[in-house]
Amino acid sequence: MAASAWLSKKLKNGKILCEACAQACKLEEGEYGICGVRKVEEGELKLLVYGRAAAVNVDPVEKKPMFHFLPNTTSFSFGTVGCNFSCKFCQNYEISQYPKEHNYRIFGEELPPEKIVDLAVEYGCKSISYTYNEPVVFFEYTYDTAKIAREKGLKNIYVTSGYETRKAIDTLAPYLDGMNIDIKSFRDEFYKEICGARLKPVLECVKYAHSKGIWIEITTLLIPGKNDSNEEIRDIAKFIAELDTAIPWHVSAFYPMYKMTDVPPTPADTLRRAYDIGKEEGLKYVYVGNIDDRKHESTYCPQCGKVVIDRRGRIGQFVTNYLDENGTCPNCGYKIEGIWK
Ligand code: SF4
Repeated sequence: MAASAWLSKKLKNGKILCEACAQACKLEEGEYGICGVRKVEEGELKLLVYGRAAAVNVDPVEKKPMFHFLPNTTSFSFGTVGCNFSCKFCQNYEISQYPKEHNYRIFGEELPPEKIVDLAVEYGCKSISYTYNEPVVFFEYTYDTAKIAREKGLKNIYVTSGYETRKAIDTLAPYLDGMNIDIKSFRDEFYKEICGARLKPVLECVKYAHSKGIWIEITTLLIPGKNDSNEEIRDIAKFIAELDTAIPWHVSAFYPMYKMTDVPPTPADTLRRAYDIGKEEGLKYVYVGNIDDRKHESTYCPQCGKVVIDRRGRIGQFVTNYLDENGTCPNCGYKIEGIWK
């Protein structure tokens, strides 16, 4: 079901500028954007995957990962095909790269926004997550869903690579509660060579989304030999800490995937090294991910040091939450930063 990709504008030279992401595609009649799911047809930019969900699950919100966001609840999670990045290590390449690798074919079950919200309510989810592929490429579908979700008392989460334009964030911010944003590296060459993108727009997006009051958590997948030097890890930690020491940082283990099967999985020690660096730089909340490590995936009160959310499991999915409904530490009264109700 193609719908108007209205986050776009006509340029004087007759092309159409897509205003969703920092790739800033300028397209002529019949052309597709880099994401492969936005195309100019009959003089208008169309979203080819509107209402077509290629992956749908009820997930623990911890899997997003969002650790300071309604812990121990489920998030109705869906995505479409298509992506504005082309990461060689993509864990979801079967859907994210599908249109570009299959002559712009798309697939997905018909799931209009109203139906998604109905299902989320039926399954007892407290939020909807736009995830699996990059949500900004199906922006208008997320926008319509988020609006209805908000009316029904659900929260909305973007799990994103952080290429949203300011206009996309401004438009969605009234309905968007949380974002998990990847900082995949702190080197522009990494973004260019491995992801088909650039570093600067990502950092700008993180800062802008944070300035809009959206709850942000950051994820970095540490890939052996690619982005796991002490210097680079510290650069990322410093960037986050300068913005806000209360932003949770998830350092996750890579597993060989897609076009990066020649690189070994991330050793657990690398994640713990990153954890220590994050703490040294003043971050209050650092978490290891994709491994089972209770000590490094639980939340500690930054004031008294007591465990306030105990997590176990590879994605921190076994949760005991000691906080009250306002996120207050039961031992010392410190208000842990996050979205708790
Ligand atoms: S969302 Fe797609 S069409 Fe729009 S700018 Fe990004 S890559 Fe290009």
